[in-house]
Amino acid sequence: MELRILGTAAGGGVPQWNCACAGCAGARRFPERRRRHASLAVRAAPGRWYIVNATPDIGEQIEAEPDLWPGPERRATPLAGVILTDAELDHTLGIARLREADAVDVCATPAVRSALRDRLALGHTLRPYTDLTWTDLPEGGAVRLGTIEAEGIRVSSKRPRYAADDPPDGGWVVALRLTDLETGGTAVYAPALGTWPENLRDAVADAACVIIDGTFWDDQEPRTTGISARTATEMGHLPIHGPEGTAESLAKVPGRVLYTHLNNTNPLVDPGAPQHRALAELGLEVAQEGSVITL
Ligand SMILES: [Zn+2]
Repeated sequence: MELRILGTAAGGGVPQWNCACAGCAGARRFPERRRRHASLAVRAAPGRWYIVNATPDIGEQIEAEPDLWPGPERRATPLAGVILTDAELDHTLGIARLREADAVDVCATPAVRSALRDRLALGHTLRPYTDLTWTDLPEGGAVRLGTIEAEGIRVSSKRPRYAADDPPDGGWVVALRLTDLETGGTAVYAPALGTWPENLRDAVADAACVIIDGTFWDDQEPRTTGISARTATEMGHLPIHGPEGTAESLAKVPGRVLYTHLNNTNPLVDPGAPQHRALAELGLEVAQEGSVITL
């Protein structure tokens, strides 16, 4: 399996356009600290790639990754489609940026698809530009995309604010389990993680690579930094550190573990923060944009 890490930030990115916090100010001062919205490219065949989550940065992310450049024919693209882990705007607005394509295939759970179609009216809005085609992302089964199998594992019932009154029972937020049918390589990609169900635990234990929600360092971070009255857990993100944190469990898994989807309040956006050492001592990493992962 071939993976490319295209972005590693939570909603807003680092820096966020209207934020002057220490993390955002640091990223303006030191451009190497900038992070685009969390996204991953997965190779499904030679010259054929899926992008997991279509962020507002998708155009720049494609330009930053030569494997995703068009050619040799003028409008030939290696992009086979997008796979969605949820319906949040930061993970879906990029679909509109792909409207120059004749068609865009979107692989998503039924709950995510209906939110995009019926609430965001994305299919209707884009119809004069491109055709959205839909592929079901199954839970408790897998869909074949080229040489890859993809399965959703439900990890939260959090709906995006624009669909907040939709029924909560559905695959609103899933972890993506990816299996390469040729190499047997396995990966789990979960940029949002509200719960830690048994089937996720099993998938993570089996995976050669786990790329997972690192939105907040600890549960109180959204409150102590003043961005929310809610805790990380209440916002649908298990933190990295502390009693509710994922680090302790992830330190025990055999595969490589990388945290992604860092919020701009997360101390890890500063490469000099002591929290990097704490993670390294547990054998855990922070995902870096441009990384190539071969499994
Ligand atoms: Zn900020």
